[in-house]
Parts: sequence; C-alpha cells; structure tokens
Amino acid sequence: MIGIGIDIGGTNVKLGAFTGEGRVLAERRFSTDSGRGRADFIKRLSKAALELKGSLVGRAVSVGIGMAGDIDPDAGLARFSPNLAGWRNLPVAGPLEKALKLPCFLENDANMAAWGAYASELKGSGGSAIAVTLGTGIGCGIILDGKLYHGAHGSAGEIGHIVIRPGGARCGCGQRGCLEAYCGSGAVMAAARSLVKAEASFIRKYADPARPRFNTVCLARAARAGNPAARKVWRDMGESLGMGLAGAVLLFNPEYIILTGGVSRAADCFLPAMKKVFAGQSIATPFRRVKIKVSRSADLGVLGAALYGLHRAAGR
Ligand SMILES: [Zn+2]
Repeated sequence: MIGIGIDIGGTNVKLGAFTGEGRVLAERRFSTDSGRGRADFIKRLSKAALELKGSLVGRAVSVGIGMAGDIDPDAGLARFSPNLAGWRNLPVAGPLEKALKLPCFLENDANMAAWGAYASELKGSGGSAIAVTLGTGIGCGIILDGKLYHGAHGSAGEIGHIVIRPGGARCGCGQRGCLEAYCGSGAVMAAARSLVKAEASFIRKYADPARPRFNTVCLARAARAGNPAARKVWRDMGESLGMGLAGAVLLFNPEYIILTGGVSRAADCFLPAMKKVFAGQSIATPFRRVKIKVSRSADLGVLGAALYGLHRAAGR
C-alpha cells in the first residue's frame, strides 16, 4: 500500500510517495508560483502528482494533501489561502481525484503535520493527542480517540491565536496577546534581539558554523552553552507555551502532547519552563499524566499527508 502526500505551501509544493510504514519511495517538488494563476497552479499540481504516481513500482491507493489556510476538508476546497495570492474557494481535491483516479483528502497543513507526528511517533495507537507544530506560526492538530478532530467547520486547533496575555504583543493575525506572538519563531527572535546587545559576536560565538545566522538554532546553542540572555528567552517562551497548552490539556485531557516543527528542535531549552507551568496547575491529574514527546523529525507535512490519505482510504 502506497500513499501519496502533498504539502502545498506559499513558496514550494512538496510531493512524496510513502509506504504505510512511512518509508519514502519517491519525492518531487516545484515552486508554487501562485502569481501564474489558480488554473495554471492546479494544472501543474496534477502534472507533478501524475508523474510521481507514474514513477512508482507499486500501486498508490490514496492521496493526502495539506495546505495552509482556511480549508474545508469535506468539500476538498481551500476557502481562503492568504499565502497563495489570497485565493478563495479553490477546489483542490476534486481536480486531483479526476487527474489521478485516486481518492484525495484535503486538510489544513497543520493537521497533516499533526497526523504525521501522531502516526509516526505513536504508530497510530488510537489514543488522544494534541500535536503542535512550532515554527513561524503555531499550528495544532487534535486527535481524539484515533481520529483527527475538525470541529464543526474545519477550524479546530487554531491554538496559535488563543490569547494568553490580553492587550499583549501584536500577532500576525492582527489581534493582541496571541500564543503565536510569544512562541512563534519571529516572536522568540524579537525577544532575543531585545536582550542580546552584540548580535555579531553572539553569532560568532554560538551559531552553527555552517549557518552563521541569528536564528532559533543559534539561540538554542547559546542557551545550552549557558548564555543567560538566551536562557531567559527560552524560559519565557516555555512559560508562554505552557500557558497556551494548559488550556488544551484542560479541554481535551490528551494522552500525549507531541511537539514538532523547526522550533521543537530547541525543546530541551524551553520544556523545563513549560513543565513548570503544568506542575503548577490546580487540576493536577491531566497535567501529571500527559506524556510530552518531541517528534524525531521537524518536517512531517508530506509524510503526514500521505499517511492520513492511507488512513482515510482504509476507512472507506
Ligand atoms: Zn493571532
């Protein structure tokens, strides 16, 4: 059984074919170029997927597609895609089904990354998990009793825009005090910039020599080396993340919290502060029992889409 996974982002579209165990068989990518128009995009998407399907030795049985934006999973439609020229009501699953003659399932990209983390880390154990993608933005997928939870209109899991500090920092969404405005990579680096005075020497001292940048990787290395400013930034971030996730734990009592995405690679720097927030909660049981895992890979969008497609196709 082979599943095709597609991750549609504002810059690139990534495609991959995977076995049910998550072994990659083939990969493709092309640049999104949404400026060329929606009809042209769908044509290029179908072509790339067809080529991938044609290159496989075994038989693909399903396609999962993750896409950023406001997605209607039932209709296979992208209701609004801010990163793709602001397209509205773009049918994605339908045209692909027609071209590939395979069942296609469209989801929000955070849901697909969440499914990837859940399926590959927990081997689809059937339990309940909150899978959080930590990157520029903060996405979240909710898996309840082994099923991805969509909410009534496909919008469940928008944890990045839960307000943790009323009147606080401005978020990209326009609101103030969102979790993302404290824990997104942009917010973390803005906090670092305000504390680290000599950026150039900080980079020289702590950055990965192969990528000498002032980024979350550099900031994590600095914290591990004991730099007090870096340690404070991660401590504050962990505390904010703990506040945001505490709401989810109280609401869903998940068995697992799985952290994925680029910033999750710094989990050793922020988890102690997050756990401290959990330990201070008065409804103690769900916080004491929840298992916190960091996914082995930071980039699970394509794999998650492929595994989710297989999961859905099997349930048909
Ligand atoms: Zn927001």
